[in-house]
Amino acid sequence: MSYDPDNIFARILRGEIPATRVYEDDDTLAFMDIMPRADGHCLVIPKTPCRNILDASPEQLAAVMRTVQKLARAVMAGLGAQGVTVQQFSEAAGGQEVFHLHFHVLPRFEGVKLRPPGQPGDMDEIAAHAERIRAAIVAG
Ligand code: AMP
Repeated sequence: MSYDPDNIFARILRGEIPATRVYEDDDTLAFMDIMPRADGHCLVIPKTPCRNILDASPEQLAAVMRTVQKLARAVMAGLGAQGVTVQQFSEAAGGQEVFHLHFHVLPRFEGVKLRPPGQPGDMDEIAAHAERIRAAIVAG
């Protein structure tokens, strides 16, 4: 399986389509999922191309996981989450729909189930959650 440079996350990286960005460094970008399965659901991607965990280099994985941990801590502090679920899907049979490596960071609250996939979120709510996550990252 080869990497498609026109996948939607590659287009976000090139600035061709908008995203609600919450964090970036030299190697990774984090932005809000537009169909959030939990309040504050965000995604972390490498800036360099790879489809998923199967073709990622150790360096890509290390960089992405550093940012996943940063976002996990930020949703705990910024949104008052009580836990975090991290998900990654590889290839269609593994549940993957966008073929640029990404990890889902899902803030969790006691007794609150994940919403079903594929339901567009309220963009004002997503923006408000993003602001609280960004503030928590800045506060460190
Ligand atoms: P999956 O490949 O199964 O891990 O899922 C892809 C995820 O990307 C889903 O949670 C979608 O809601 C999310 N998604 C798809 N398009 C966008 C977009 N333009 N901006 C933010 N998230 C997106």
